[in-house]
Amino acid sequence: MSEQLTLKDIYLARQRIAGLALRTPLVRSESLSRRWNCDAWLKLDNLQPTGAFKLRGAANALLGLDPAQRERGVVTMSTGNFGRGLAYAGRRLNIPVTVCISRLVPDNKVAALRASGAEVVIHGDCQDDADCEARRLRDERGLAYLPPFDHPLVIAGQGTCGLEILEEQPEIDMIFAGLSGGGLIAGIGLAAKSINPALEVIGVSMNEGAAMLESLAAGHPLQVAEVSSLADSLGGGIGLDNAWTFAMTQRYMDRGYKVDEVQIARAMVQLLREDKLLVEGAAAVGMAAVEQHRLDLSGRRVAFVISGQNLSTTTFAQACRLAGEPPYADL
Ligand SMILES: *Cc1c(COP(=O)(O)O)cnc(C)c1O
Repeated sequence: MSEQLTLKDIYLARQRIAGLALRTPLVRSESLSRRWNCDAWLKLDNLQPTGAFKLRGAANALLGLDPAQRERGVVTMSTGNFGRGLAYAGRRLNIPVTVCISRLVPDNKVAALRASGAEVVIHGDCQDDADCEARRLRDERGLAYLPPFDHPLVIAGQGTCGLEILEEQPEIDMIFAGLSGGGLIAGIGLAAKSINPALEVIGVSMNEGAAMLESLAAGHPLQVAEVSSLADSLGGGIGLDNAWTFAMTQRYMDRGYKVDEVQIARAMVQLLREDKLLVEGAAAVGMAAVEQHRLDLSGRRVAFVISGQNLSTTTFAQACRLAGEPPYADL
């Protein structure tokens, strides 16, 4: 791997992960196209076998390990979609996966991780404690430490999502995606801008705890307080020692927007009502940004990355209430 990622790394990733992650459909949304007088497309990465795009990066990182490292296995501290993706790909590839989590992680998440074949190590009272334990196990057991976004193979894997969008619809001139640690935007940005430098890449985060947007505004990685959100997959910091995604987001993302909870809720309800997609908040932030910031998309060919569908019915009911809809009524 060179010091800088290139489009070639994304092509390599695509070849590597082909048997593990799906090439997902890109479908036209009639309702959104009509609503915004544009040509709106949805990249359905919620249809990955783990319910989120993060399988792409997780699979690519595992497949990039040398044989000795594959045998020893890997460790991460992600409880969310990356941990899930890693556990799934690890099981398929016969690579042991250990996930370190804090005591605060709810039982259902722990059970889901165990069911997917990961060894779960519970340690400490916060994410930082769990991360320390992950690094200790790396040293003690010789495991490879795989972070959820700040890793070249992870970024290249996420980039395959952007590559697929442009292969399917080369005329797309704008891509919206959720922004957290920046692996998705970095990968998609690299892919898309390498193919069409004029294409606009837009990242969207929730109002509170938008670590990457705050860091970009400050000019360096910042620590931000984590606040609960309907877009829970977008929570967490970018790492004060960020090595890859901060610089790549700075370079490849044209604009970033924040969206409030009500707009996320409305976008989730709208996606179910109009497009029959039940997706998590993080997957709906692009549409929320268009509404909240009254973006003019007329005449544009726009792709929205539907990044995941891992949400509970309770969370969806919460979104309905927030959007001013009675739960499940008339959808
Ligand atoms: C992780 C995640 C994102 C954001 O990806 P980053 O690479 O962390 O910026 C968006 N949507 C979903 C569903 C996710 O799980």
